[in-house]
Amino acid sequence: MKPRVRFAPSPTGHLHIGGARTALFNWLYARHTGGAFILRIEDTDTARNSQEAVKLILDGLRWLGLDWDEGPLTADATGPSQGDFGPYFQSQRHANYRNRVEALLSRGLAYEHAGAVKFKMQREPIAINDLVAGQVIRKLTDREAADPDFVIMRSDGQPVFHLVNVVDDLDMGVTHVIRGEDHLSNTARHVALFRAFGVPPPHYAHIPLILNADGSKMSKRDKGASLAAYMEQGFLAEAVANYLCLLGWSPKDNREKLSIEEITERFDVPQILRHNARFDYEKLLWLQGEYARELNDDRFYELAVHAFARAGLDTNSYPLPYVKAALDTCKGKFKTFGELPAYAGFYFRDVQDYNPEAAKKDFVPENKPRVQALRDAFGKLDKFDAASLETALKSTAAALGVKAGVLVHPCRLAVTGNVAGPSLYHSLEVLGKEKSLQRMGRALERF
Ligand code: GLU
Repeated sequence: MKPRVRFAPSPTGHLHIGGARTALFNWLYARHTGGAFILRIEDTDTARNSQEAVKLILDGLRWLGLDWDEGPLTADATGPSQGDFGPYFQSQRHANYRNRVEALLSRGLAYEHAGAVKFKMQREPIAINDLVAGQVIRKLTDREAADPDFVIMRSDGQPVFHLVNVVDDLDMGVTHVIRGEDHLSNTARHVALFRAFGVPPPHYAHIPLILNADGSKMSKRDKGASLAAYMEQGFLAEAVANYLCLLGWSPKDNREKLSIEEITERFDVPQILRHNARFDYEKLLWLQGEYARELNDDRFYELAVHAFARAGLDTNSYPLPYVKAALDTCKGKFKTFGELPAYAGFYFRDVQDYNPEAAKKDFVPENKPRVQALRDAFGKLDKFDAASLETALKSTAAALGVKAGVLVHPCRLAVTGNVAGPSLYHSLEVLGKEKSLQRMGRALERF
């Protein structure tokens, strides 16, 4: 039988890194084995759930490329873009839960208590053969030992997490439950429920936690914990997906940069690491840089244009060859696309502000005649290309008896407003003679 796995997020906030990794591991296992990946939104807690959170989850999964395989045919808010079906929503499956509760009641495996329905939990310890954690025998706490029964349907008729989670895993034929280690403590209850329904429980694989770099437990509020932050900062989905795979899984040959196809081929549940994974932002940045370098031109332009647009810079109002030439000067010079507007925004807006510290240092009276001379030399050029600009700058510096840097710094500051950026000569070439001279002229008023 082909494995059937699911990602079952509760839509209570951002899709965080831990959740995204759980989704990814499930998806990888399904793709590796040719099984099915189900997406189930666990939205029975109406007080804590929101449509916005559902959207964040779906957007995040789509961004990472984690397509799900089945679900009710839908034309609802989720749209038909992921095949023709949306995810399953527990809020639409109420009748199933009620029927299951009634079945337990009628068989004496559950009972009513103060208006709620409680499940008769088995008294013997339950051993779980977890595929990652190994054999776990869950001992009852003293309080639980006194009364291990637990509520499965509240007095207002709302079914409780343990029940809906198990009923759906059962109805959906889930064979492997791959989820965060925080659910290990719930698993004895889930196993007992499966037994009460007369069905063997699925295999369980509880993935260790993700820790912050300092070893503390990563919480939803920690910086870098939300997937949306990486989407907004212009990270590449392939870099983030690759990185997430390394959080708790290893291909065992010390390789770290692997395409999702390679990972899919190699991924298997027994290789999930048993120890907690530490989040290493530097490694993520490194992977991001590696993937960014390999982007083909079309994707590079598309992502760059998006990054500028997010920062309010409209590249569409510039001729396409200009945009491409500008972006070509940035290739391989930055890691995340989110850095791009600060790095090269000067191509798409006027320079109004200059880096204040640099201005104090470079826009000084003794530099004024130098920059003036440089501007004159640039003005005389017929061909305003990088090579000619470089020659003109160097010969002006030689004539003035100063090093090239003495001219480079104020010139860059004048035309870009920044101290760092793409190659100065190429930047000037792209901006063109008119804009370059105009910006130098305007800056000269500040000296
Ligand atoms: N809704 C649960 C959560 O978001 C799912 C637990 C599970 O995967 O079984 O933590």
